[in-house]
Amino acid sequence: MAISDSFSHGKDANARSGGRNLPAGALKAQDIRRQVDEWKDPYLRDEERPKRPALCEECGAVYANHRWYQAEDAPMPAREQAQLPRVICPADRRMRDRLPGGVLTVSGAFFDSHRQTIEELIHNEEQRARKTNPMERIMDRSDGNGALTIQTTNPKLAQRIGHALEKAYHGDIVYKWSEDNRMARINWKRD
Ligand SMILES: [Zn+2]
Repeated sequence: MAISDSFSHGKDANARSGGRNLPAGALKAQDIRRQVDEWKDPYLRDEERPKRPALCEECGAVYANHRWYQAEDAPMPAREQAQLPRVICPADRRMRDRLPGGVLTVSGAFFDSHRQTIEELIHNEEQRARKTNPMERIMDRSDGNGALTIQTTNPKLAQRIGHALEKAYHGDIVYKWSEDNRMARINWKRD
């Protein structure tokens, strides 16, 4: 899928914000942060949620108390988890459908020369996010032409990693939404 072809900004941002006059061009960081906070995952709609506690047969995440837990954090012992009805969790459905919620591109000369520490930061951010919400995870990555492209199951994780890179290493960051408002695209670059 040509993800990069489906992105635009400016005009669509105005339409999505109910006609308020956002400047043309990429959304400002605050704008997308607010929108990400309000963003509702179509894979987590009420009708998609399990009606009672359940276990993801792909990743072992447990659904209980209206949220998802990693197995070791679930509010019931493993032997009870094993009895739960099996479902496919929203993150695994996205992975099956190959439909990311966020795409983060990391590039620039600084990235080339600090690849290992940057990869560690990305990994650590994913692990922390996943602990809080097992539905936030990296679903794919590709490396080429001096850039690392990471697909995440939701826009919050792509945003979180981009923000962590900016905080740790400065550089330039650009946030955009896809036309259908379902996918955030975040580009971080430092030369
Ligand atoms: Zn799962």
